[in-house]
Amino acid sequence: MKNDDDKVSAVPPQVPSEAKREIMLHGIPASPGIAIGVALAVGDGDRVSLEPESHPITESEVPNEINRFTAALEKTRLQIMDLQKRVQSSLQASEASIFDAHLLIVDDKVLTQEVVSEIRKRLQSANVVFCEIIRRYIAAISGVDDQYLKERASDVADVAYRILENLNGQERQLLDHLPGQRIVISRDLTPSDTALLDRENVQAFATETGSRTSHTAILARSMKIPAVVGLNGICGQIHNGDMLIIDGFLGAVILNPRQETLELYAQKEAFKEQLYNELQRESSLIPETIDGYRIQLAANIDNVNNLDDILSSGAAGIGLFRTEYLFMANKIPTEEEQFEVYRKIASAMNGQATIIRTLDLGGDKLSSLLNISHDPNPFLGLRSIRLCLAYPELLIPQLRAILRASAFGNIKMMFPMVTCEDELDKLLEILESVRKELRAEKKKFDEEMEIGIMIETPAAALFADHLAKKADFFSIGTNDLVQYTMAVDRGNEKVANLYRPAHPVIVMLIHRIVQAAEKAGIWVSVCGEMASDPRFIPLLVGLGVQELSMSPVSLGMARRVIRRLKMYEAESLAEKALKCTEHAQILDMSDELLHRIAPDVVSLAMKGG
Ligand code: PEP
Ligand code: MG
Repeated sequence: MKNDDDKVSAVPPQVPSEAKREIMLHGIPASPGIAIGVALAVGDGDRVSLEPESHPITESEVPNEINRFTAALEKTRLQIMDLQKRVQSSLQASEASIFDAHLLIVDDKVLTQEVVSEIRKRLQSANVVFCEIIRRYIAAISGVDDQYLKERASDVADVAYRILENLNGQERQLLDHLPGQRIVISRDLTPSDTALLDRENVQAFATETGSRTSHTAILARSMKIPAVVGLNGICGQIHNGDMLIIDGFLGAVILNPRQETLELYAQKEAFKEQLYNELQRESSLIPETIDGYRIQLAANIDNVNNLDDILSSGAAGIGLFRTEYLFMANKIPTEEEQFEVYRKIASAMNGQATIIRTLDLGGDKLSSLLNISHDPNPFLGLRSIRLCLAYPELLIPQLRAILRASAFGNIKMMFPMVTCEDELDKLLEILESVRKELRAEKKKFDEEMEIGIMIETPAAALFADHLAKKADFFSIGTNDLVQYTMAVDRGNEKVANLYRPAHPVIVMLIHRIVQAAEKAGIWVSVCGEMASDPRFIPLLVGLGVQELSMSPVSLGMARRVIRRLKMYEAESLAEKALKCTEHAQILDMSDELLHRIAPDVVSLAMKGG
């Protein structure tokens, strides 16, 4: 429940005369919107180490150590029960049951007794003894060749971190339960931290790390939380209780705003809100250019909570369902659980297409499942279809669930991060055997379901001619295509200036992909963040992309840009861009066109590229 005392009004009454100096900090706009409120500075989320240094104790300190340990267990139990309650009300009920397993670990008498007797015997601190024992448990469980038990190992580790934090007296910032309306300031937020954010009370967030295409930013847009990322050094500058303005349109954070600034922002917020609402009201207008070319506008989603919003946003379907968020709650969803989710979407979309992407776990979408977080270079590691091919127990239930759901609506499926043709062949082979299995079981599915592939690696882009023969459509994942082509980590703010969607090489690759698709007679969508950046919409349309799929918040802007565009202008822009040698030239031309056709949208747009 929200506490009224905790609410921060849009314009706080009066800034005290001894107000601190106003400071404007610039970062990367990650999710649109303006928030005015009070900071909650959270720790950097670094995990405590399960290998503490030796800490001998004396006989007389033993009772105290045992008390500390049992108190830490009790505190952990209360925290987990609290978390369980809150997740139950904000996510699906089934997710909350994960915490039952966590409580069983806290209540494990054998573990408790072993720690207590070892503290006595070895005269080491509770931290050291507990860590040694729990590490042995984790190693034993994860060494077993059984998927179910492996999952338990990550649960044990998760609980172990909590117990150790409590032993250390460290406060874990529970972002899923804030003390009231707050703007969260953190060095980093992982996608799973973000997924668990207390939606009612987080007004906005700002982080030191991250970029517009990091999954944390993508999630913020989908949750409609204004966010600014890539703000170097903010954790040292902003403290709990500081007054802040977060401008998610501009990518700015204003610390200790003056009264005039607060008033200005209240007006700005009203103006942007007005324009945003106007764009929402245009949701029934057809997204076609002035000269009559229709572009499909679709929505990117990562959960099934707001399907009504998607329908009312005027999206022609779902262009990307990121299924990995179903896997982030420390538990692998069963085929039945997945089937229910996919079926729900298929039915709710009333015949409009839904593209379900198979699991793209890895990269910055880390999960404690399968211990994949230990990959030294996760974006180049066991991510996505590589992970699924290595663990068929992840892939096959998902394929079965998607196929079965296809009997209930217009479902298409796509494979992410295709790099090598033989990987795709293997996936298609597995898919075929799953189809056979379902036929034998007399389970219904759409035999004609379209199978697409994401083109998001330079290898796939350069090989698009061949891949096009094996796919029903292409969906260009520009977030990764730019990352892998430019060799720039999409989530690393230190190299954000080199993350260039408008680089001539990217334009060339998109052109090549579209040409390959045209030759093979298949359609092309862009589902990366480039599709939602109004500056790049004319360019993508001019290059021949037929569908743009984006976070629902961006659909209104995209529709307006398309409706103010003439196809020949877009094509001429693309033609010129293909001859450019510098990304700045392409950006300038794209900016110039956008300013000319949709100056109002410019004020709402975020600057990427
Ligand atoms: C992309 O890479 O552009 C994409 C849409 O996939 P994700 O952002 O989930 O990696
Ligand atoms: Mg991707």
